[in-house]
Amino acid sequence: MKITAIDVVLIEKVEPRFTWRGGVFSEGKNTIGWLVIETDAGITGFATAARGVILKDYVDRRFRAEMIGQDPLMREHLWERVWELDRIERFAPNMAHVIDVALWDIAAKAANLPVYKLLGGYRESIPAYASTATYSSIPEFLDIASQCIDRGYKAIKLHAFGDAKKDAELSLKLRAHVGPDIALMYDGSAGFDLMDAVYLGHALDEADFLWYEEPMREFSVTAYKWLGERVRIPLLLGEVTEGAHMSAGDFVATGVASALRVSTFLRGGFTGAMRIAHLADTFHLRAEVHGFGLEQAHLCMAIKNNSYYESLIKDNPFTEMSQDLPVDNNGMIHAPKGPGIGYETLWAEKGAPKELAKFLKG
Ligand SMILES: [Mg+2]
Repeated sequence: MKITAIDVVLIEKVEPRFTWRGGVFSEGKNTIGWLVIETDAGITGFATAARGVILKDYVDRRFRAEMIGQDPLMREHLWERVWELDRIERFAPNMAHVIDVALWDIAAKAANLPVYKLLGGYRESIPAYASTATYSSIPEFLDIASQCIDRGYKAIKLHAFGDAKKDAELSLKLRAHVGPDIALMYDGSAGFDLMDAVYLGHALDEADFLWYEEPMREFSVTAYKWLGERVRIPLLLGEVTEGAHMSAGDFVATGVASALRVSTFLRGGFTGAMRIAHLADTFHLRAEVHGFGLEQAHLCMAIKNNSYYESLIKDNPFTEMSQDLPVDNNGMIHAPKGPGIGYETLWAEKGAPKELAKFLKG
């Protein structure tokens, strides 16, 4: 099989804002990019990126010349070529391996399988956790938690205020509010320095949280080593470090991480995510999937040492960010339907973006 064409289709998207700590919020309007890779076998691979203009620039200047004529089934070879180009270009970490995602879509369609089965299927369903936006007050967080439990969720992760004292108070009150049987997690989104991270880590331990995620920027593995020496709560690390398994390894080697983060969009596509997951498994660490949507759901179904699917929620009454893969009334998601990633299967039900019509068969 040979790659015959590679293009990026830009689509303007307007979404409600997702609020974050410190008054940071997601952009409401964005130009997303659909990467489309065509082959001489008549199989087309799709993948999407949040920053379409940047991806289009990379494809027009670098990736088209590199990819046309290549065998799309030689994914490891092409993954390494992207790293070679990265040494010159310093690609944005969430853009470089969108290609890998589309190549897995092609390979799984060629095998007539959903991607998770080609990766090596492990399960057909998994619990989702409600991963909150930042709400305005502790009472509002408690109200949202009740809504999530009523909806069927049995696990909740906080993106809280980014104030160690207030977040500690929220965590203890939330545990008292939901009782002992709801799993609770905390995501600091790099909001703290070491002193605040230690203070909050003690409270999360007292409140019986399952994990403590990215309390500080992840540039310094040493700072995390020091944090690990000062708190008991398990640390989930490596969400935004560049370099896929190459940077994940140091969090393993220091012994600080109880779990590593994996995703298609920040950790090197499906190929990078699976390398990290298997590296983690070697040391009996978990590899928790970051983010939502079809691609991450495939990872959830293929990675043995992953325990949850992240369902981002916002607003009050809360809404779920991903409508592509519904969470059922028991708080579970089920394996996406293929073949491939399953975008065409979804579009057959809900309609495809009109900008992609010329790439779709039938
Ligand atoms: Mg996170």
